[in-house]
Amino acid sequence: MSKRKRSLEPLALLAAAAIVVATVSTLGAAISQAATCNGYVGLTFDDGPQGGTTTNLLNALQQNGLKATLFNEGQYASANPGSVRAEAAAGMWIGNHSWDHPHMTQLSQANMDSEISRTQNAVSSAGGGTPKLFRPPYGETNSTLKSVEAKYGLREIIWDVDSQDWNGASVSAIANAAGNAQSGQIVLMHEWPSNTIQAIPQIAQKLSSRGLCAGMIDPSSGRVIAPTGSGGGGTTPPATSTGGGGSTGGCTATLSAGNKGSNWYNLNVAVSGSNTWTVTVNMPSPAVVASTWNITASYPSQYQLVAKPNGNGNNWGLTVSPNGQWTWPTVSCTAA
Ligand code: ZN
Repeated sequence: MSKRKRSLEPLALLAAAAIVVATVSTLGAAISQAATCNGYVGLTFDDGPQGGTTTNLLNALQQNGLKATLFNEGQYASANPGSVRAEAAAGMWIGNHSWDHPHMTQLSQANMDSEISRTQNAVSSAGGGTPKLFRPPYGETNSTLKSVEAKYGLREIIWDVDSQDWNGASVSAIANAAGNAQSGQIVLMHEWPSNTIQAIPQIAQKLSSRGLCAGMIDPSSGRVIAPTGSGGGGTTPPATSTGGGGSTGGCTATLSAGNKGSNWYNLNVAVSGSNTWTVTVNMPSPAVVASTWNITASYPSQYQLVAKPNGNGNNWGLTVSPNGQWTWPTVSCTAA
């Protein structure tokens, strides 16, 4: 009996949270964070990191609470090492997509080796870790290429669902392709089409409405699994810090704990002293803001949220993706 009662308590809390955020524009994202994952889909984005498009992709993924595998080209990783670090800091998984996107099966074994090894070095020296996954350009492979992949400890990953974003697919077509993927499937997308970036909120909503979450591709099996290191693997979040507050000019923002799960937590923010405030939230890297409610949010950088009133009063909140960092952010308040 006690077990049954305990199991009901989180549901009651979630129901209460759902009522609180019912007026929120980011309702879908907030709920998807809290929802149970009945399965995992592997979202992949190829051909980065090209700088500005990388920033757009990471912002869209983070604002919608999604994780993805990013197959980088070595030439771009080498030219944009800061983007590689941003990908890693955002909790994404970075794979190898060759140095400059040739038809690998038309290359000599020595040139295949060069394409792969130079990219391994470019990603790791940029701070992205050493890739364990390889996606051959155009999905073209053969036994010689597989032997070179094996030499570098890489697992070859093709895809189950082609979003056709590289072929001019519309926003809704991309959202349908990715959002209707089945549990365990891997979806091909790219960093550079603007339609892909625009489709991300719909992809998040469609997956969450079907009880599916974005998963990681396990290098040892090639299967899509629950993300490790940030939940799903039995990790227990450490206790969070006690309530912080910040006041620099005419108002005070006070944090209090909301619901939390294995790889997310909510913070409630109460502002006093003014109705025309600006609250700045500085996230401890690599923790990032996944979604917010009752504010107009802007993000001057990956780890900073600037909140302003949106007509819903002085009580608002945010969902955090800790990425292993469970220390609360710091806040400061300025009256406008
Ligand atoms: Zn490609």
